[in-house]
Amino acid sequence: MSAQVIDGKQLATTIDEETAAQVATFTHTTGITPCLAAVLVGEDPASQVYVRNKRKACEKVGLTSQLHRLPATTSEDELLTLIARLNAAAAVHGILVQLPLPRQIREARILDAVHPLKDVDCFHPENVGRLSQGRPRFLPCTPHGVQQILHRSGIPAAGREVVIVGRSEIVGKPLAMLLMAKDSPTCGPTAANATVTVAHSRTANLAQVTRRADILIAAIGQPKFITAEMIKPGAAVIDVGINRTAAGLCGDVDFEPACEVAGAITPVPRGVGPLTIAMLLINTLTAAHEQQASALG
Ligand code: NDP
Repeated sequence: MSAQVIDGKQLATTIDEETAAQVATFTHTTGITPCLAAVLVGEDPASQVYVRNKRKACEKVGLTSQLHRLPATTSEDELLTLIARLNAAAAVHGILVQLPLPRQIREARILDAVHPLKDVDCFHPENVGRLSQGRPRFLPCTPHGVQQILHRSGIPAAGREVVIVGRSEIVGKPLAMLLMAKDSPTCGPTAANATVTVAHSRTANLAQVTRRADILIAAIGQPKFITAEMIKPGAAVIDVGINRTAAGLCGDVDFEPACEVAGAITPVPRGVGPLTIAMLLINTLTAAHEQQASALG
């Protein structure tokens, strides 16, 4: 058996075309061009690539972007001052603080300082709370990207066993919330209503748990950790992992052997990554809508 390899880049291109049309309508009717401000602290090479890709993607769909670069020696207070300035700037609709931050800066303190209406990563406790209560303002980018992949590839989640390996605040936990919800604001009830198990480093008999999954999602950060033996034949396997190894970029799934067992699979690269950026663009447009509505209201 050879799995259907899902082309995340192609899906993202389709979504970006839809977003570009929505941005054009918004700008035409309001005279406002939504703007994403990216904040990059330090010189981490991977972070620089991510920020560059995000800015390019903004241009492609008609959003504007700003880049605020600060040295690795920046203090927490200096970064908070910049965030306060961006929160107050009417021309800025979304604020993205590229992670990881240097050691001297407490991530939670910075992310909590981003105005909830400009929190396009959906990290602010108010937005996470809204998500968990089933009335989201923003959908978290990577989890929403995974949901869009399933939805647009015709892989239903409703009533099926989903196993997510990884319980981080950025991927595993919010993804569980999206897939166990009663509905999805963008993908409908078929892309939600799953029976979700979240596994982590303390899960006993992990392979037994993962083999139950109709949809197996790996968000671990360990190269090729999910082997073919851990996959139920015919399952959809979504690989969120991005690992830099001596042999190049790879995911959390041992791709080639997994293709022999899975029914569908996302590759790395060209899998979840492009969707994450596409969802960030949607959130920037949503932020502009929200801020315009709150200014009018
Ligand atoms: P974290 O390091 O925050 O979380 C990793 C999770 O994996 C933890 O819950 C951890 O368990 C679990 N884990 C680690 N080792 C094992 C193990 N041996 N068995 C079972 N579970 C294990 O990572 P993130 O969630 O931020 O990211 C995960 C991966 O996804 C990374 O490769 C990252 O680069 C990538 N990523 C990709 C994105 C994209 O757009 N494609 C976006 C964001 C992340 P525990 O909690 O017990 O420690």
